[in-house]
Amino acid sequence: MDNKKVGLSDTTKAKTEPKTFKRNRIIGTKFTIAISSAKGGVGKSTFASNIALALKKMDLNVGLLDADIYGPSLPKLFSINEKPESDGQKLKPISKYGIQCMSVGFLADEQTPMIWRGPMVISAIKTFTQKVLWENLDFLIVDMPPGTGDTQLTFAQEINMDGVIIISTPQEIALQDVKRGIRMFDKLKVKILGLIDNMSHFIGDDGKKYAIFGEGGVKKTAEEFKKDFIGEIPIDPEVGKQGDLGSPIVESKPDHEISKVYLKFAEKIKSIYL
Ligand code: ADP
Repeated sequence: MDNKKVGLSDTTKAKTEPKTFKRNRIIGTKFTIAISSAKGGVGKSTFASNIALALKKMDLNVGLLDADIYGPSLPKLFSINEKPESDGQKLKPISKYGIQCMSVGFLADEQTPMIWRGPMVISAIKTFTQKVLWENLDFLIVDMPPGTGDTQLTFAQEINMDGVIIISTPQEIALQDVKRGIRMFDKLKVKILGLIDNMSHFIGDDGKKYAIFGEGGVKKTAEEFKKDFIGEIPIDPEVGKQGDLGSPIVESKPDHEISKVYLKFAEKIKSIYL
């Protein structure tokens, strides 16, 4: 091959193409999937924990990394009160419901607010991705903080992420932020697996469907940005209740209609990768 020619075209390329990043696979994992929402309170952590449990139910090895540095949910959602052990070099994930779990919430007092600046967040993400003994995982599910900040950027630039699932409610105010989130991941060239419409509607005792946050907005946004629409999860008080009890619905009530929805989504995710 003519090396000179290759060199020349490479230089031209470097000037015209956006910067690409050197991304590393997290040791001990096959596939890393981030669960993201541009807005807080739309059910991202609930989805992350239930989808991890649903994948586990399919006999896969699953890890759950709570990367929501400022508002960790995993200690509460999985009722974990212990601290991870360290071998002096690396932290051992805490195993609960057959899932390897890690959260900044395991390391800090529940009442202590995380008042961290950007560089500290980046260093925490590096610890979680380089210094945790994830073992033989088929999937590592990463619960991202809301928004488009340091955590997303650090992951997108340094970690080989295999896909992102974006969670939203159908409310206009949430969708506005979702669009920002989609643009960010597109710009960073992270594959968006699709969008989930969480708390899409409520079925009343009268059997009628109530679109509390509006209807069809997430699907419409997916179409607008040419992304897959994975599906919807209705509002069900049982979802919140089981989460608060520290045993998400897929674990505590696997035959519940909502659990079946999570299992269906897990099948879909599995079929994309395995
Ligand atoms: P986020 O991680 O986006 O901040 P959470 O997962 O903490 O959001 O969920 C916010 C609240 O909504 C929690 O109280 C949770 O139990 C509740 N929730 C999430 N999804 C559902 C659902 N499908 N039905 C009922 N409540 C839900």
